[in-house]
Amino acid sequence: MGDYSAWFQAVSGEEERYPLNEVIYRSPTSGQLLEVVHDEDAIRRRSAAAWMQLFDSRYGRTSWPYGSGVWSKHEWVQPHVHPDNVVSLYEGNTNLYWADRYGKMLGLQDLWVKQCGTSHTGSFKDLGMTVLVSSVKQMISEGQPIRAMACASTGDTSAALAAYGAAAGIPVVVLLPAGKISTAQLIQPIANGALVCSLDTDFDGCMRVVQRLTEDTHIYLANSMNSLRVEGQKTISLELVQQFDWQVPDWVLVPGGNLGNVSAIAKGFMQMKRFGLIARVPRLVCCQAELANPLYRAYQKAQSQKRPLQEDDYEAVQAGATLASAIRIGAPVSFVKAIRAINETDGVVEQATEKELADAAARADLTGMFNCPHTGVALACLEKLVARGEIQPRDKVVVVSTAHGLKFTEFKSGYHDGTLGFESRHSNQPVSMGADPDQVIGEIHRALDLRESRVQ
Ligand SMILES: *Cc1c(COP(=O)(O)O)cnc(C)c1O
Repeated sequence: MGDYSAWFQAVSGEEERYPLNEVIYRSPTSGQLLEVVHDEDAIRRRSAAAWMQLFDSRYGRTSWPYGSGVWSKHEWVQPHVHPDNVVSLYEGNTNLYWADRYGKMLGLQDLWVKQCGTSHTGSFKDLGMTVLVSSVKQMISEGQPIRAMACASTGDTSAALAAYGAAAGIPVVVLLPAGKISTAQLIQPIANGALVCSLDTDFDGCMRVVQRLTEDTHIYLANSMNSLRVEGQKTISLELVQQFDWQVPDWVLVPGGNLGNVSAIAKGFMQMKRFGLIARVPRLVCCQAELANPLYRAYQKAQSQKRPLQEDDYEAVQAGATLASAIRIGAPVSFVKAIRAINETDGVVEQATEKELADAAARADLTGMFNCPHTGVALACLEKLVARGEIQPRDKVVVVSTAHGLKFTEFKSGYHDGTLGFESRHSNQPVSMGADPDQVIGEIHRALDLRESRVQ
């Protein structure tokens, strides 16, 4: 990839540049987060039509590593990583599902769900992790003394880091808040052989510890504070536009916790627009749980004063015990980038209560999906925007589904058992029927009759 290059730069400063193979996460002078900036003139030397053709020619093929949804965009993602150092589990290329029945229930004709959780570790964190771990493998191949990669996690980041680390043979340390993640999420890094540290604190507490741990540059920080991951996550936007034959939707909704992803999705769209692949960007909706809603609060403040979001609208909160445990974050590290993402896409921030997120997830499940609670947050926010008339019946809408529901079976069974502390509108229970064929068949007909009478 000799023609293309990228580097780290402070979020609002062009003076400082650092190579991507340097162990650095914040600007040493301003303390700001860094972001990856590409040599855009090099990308512009190829026409938009030629880029679209190149990306289409690679989509889902077997030529290493370009069949991956992320590495099919290699030049735009991590040009300095040699294909030999790519650590890929063939992430991306996820189903863009036409949610026809669910859309009709809401009065929408053109609703799509990007099933990013149908992936190797069951969440969209695979997209960024392939980039970060490949970058580390590249650094190690260049002789950098890196002992391990480490992250704090609400569950999905640690599962992804552990899988990619194990695939690469690089040691992994994960710091998890004790008792605050699902069983499936906990067993993933255990199975992949990571050093699993269970800390008596919440995610924000784990984040403080991992930042101290990684002051030692031999241990590489894998949280989204590390902007390499954003480069992989931004391919969500590229891929979904590609799946629409390069048409742009009107709205994209995504659940937000640490706010790296809303920023990444905006970045993907803005790049495509700058390079001429698309003519406009969709409006982004960042969807937060009411129990962990610092960006929503900031947005409300700006709205009430009828002006765009500003950095000083933001204030960290103490995150409550939301069912959407992967976004239980009160002090998101990427809030500055997220504010920019909302402003540059004419975006919206919405929130959902526990009952709203659970009912929305269950209602959509009744049309064949199997939603995680975070996707439930996005669906509940979608329902609110439709009810308010902000999202119109003919708008083309994409909901980014961020994890597979099978990682959150405690949430699902709690909902259907009715033990979540509120009434479950769409609860469904197994029916005990004994074993006698006549009796069972009789029960089945009675149950079907009951269902038919309810539908009418
Ligand atoms: C990480 C994650 C999110 C939120 O992404 P952020 O970048 O932290 O805002 C949403 N849903 C799931 C399932 C996640 O794992």
